[in-house]
Amino acid sequence: MLPAGFSPDSLLVPERPRDDTLLRVAFESSPAGMVMVDRDGAILVVNQEIERLFGYARKELVGQSIELLLPEDTRAAHPARRAEFLLHPKRRAMGTGTDLLGRHRDGLKVPIEITLNPVETDTGLCVLACVTELTSRKRADEELRRSNAELQQFAYVASHDLQEPLRTVTSFLQLLQRRYGDRLDADASEFIAIAVDGAARMQRLIEDLLSYSRVDTRGGALVPINAGVAIDASLQDLRAAIAESGARVERSELPRVLADPAQLQRVFTNLIGNALKFHGPEPPLVRIAAARDGAFWRFAVTDNGIGIDPKDYGRIFVIFQRLHSREEFPGTGMGLAICKKIVERHGGRIWLESVPGKGSTFLFTLLAGPEP
Ligand code: ADP
Repeated sequence: MLPAGFSPDSLLVPERPRDDTLLRVAFESSPAGMVMVDRDGAILVVNQEIERLFGYARKELVGQSIELLLPEDTRAAHPARRAEFLLHPKRRAMGTGTDLLGRHRDGLKVPIEITLNPVETDTGLCVLACVTELTSRKRADEELRRSNAELQQFAYVASHDLQEPLRTVTSFLQLLQRRYGDRLDADASEFIAIAVDGAARMQRLIEDLLSYSRVDTRGGALVPINAGVAIDASLQDLRAAIAESGARVERSELPRVLADPAQLQRVFTNLIGNALKFHGPEPPLVRIAAARDGAFWRFAVTDNGIGIDPKDYGRIFVIFQRLHSREEFPGTGMGLAICKKIVERHGGRIWLESVPGKGSTFLFTLLAGPEP
């Protein structure tokens, strides 16, 4: 028996909105602006976000040419670009990495990104443009990316082009020294020696700046390699410094990682080289170890040297930053900046722990390589 007052209707699921209603609601409430134009660039339909972005009511837009939404100075060239799109109608993103601007009704320019999608309709090919506003955060990221790329280009061109005139200066100074050395008095010889020394130093600075700018542009593929192989090569590079300082270098078993072999060697050479260089009265003792850390291996290069004050931890990774005079310890101040750039290119990070007067440990992570 059915309870009193029961109606079979109450068992019915509430009616679902029709598909075309759902589609209309989705189109309207999409957070991306959407505007569809026909082959001739006439606006067929827009959603609410387009009204908000450009400040027009939809009845003012439908039937108008899409050029209405472009800044005046780009309108004339636009029909040709539309025609070009229709020749090769493929989904295409525009605006990332460039200054794409729309025009608000009040004349202000709106920075935007657009994805164009060709759509086949009953009445022929149309284009659906999805428009998103470039937020200030995205714009700042974009500007940073661009200014980094420019800086990189500048560093490369400057260091590359400075090498040639510098070589001329060095070789003529050396010629002067060789050919006229015996005819010059002590002061003149000393001045030439200082100039030769300065030119040699500038050469080292330029080479390091060039290596820095090449970390990204000339970096090789990341391949699985045993970190021990890179360390062997570094120790070979550093054998004179090791012998001279009477250093002891200890290492544990080392893992396979994903790295550009030449760049990994550079990181170890710089870190072990610093561990040998910045030592106190005791001969250097350098320890190299690795520990697993999730998908990464964490490497540690530890020394018993002079140590670093925590307030300088950030500074020493910046290009040309040094904590000592050249008379105390030679160097260009580029080594750690290059290490940082290499490690970050590999998706890892680099940092340090140190006790002034006792020693430092430089740590960095690299993705673990697949086992052979
Ligand atoms: P450079 O060695 O040419 O001076 P780096 O970029 O390699 O340049 O290092 C920057 C500075 O960081 C060094 O000048 C030094 O003051 C400090 N530093 C680096 N490694 C160590 C270390 N192992 N112990 C003490 N100080 C260090």
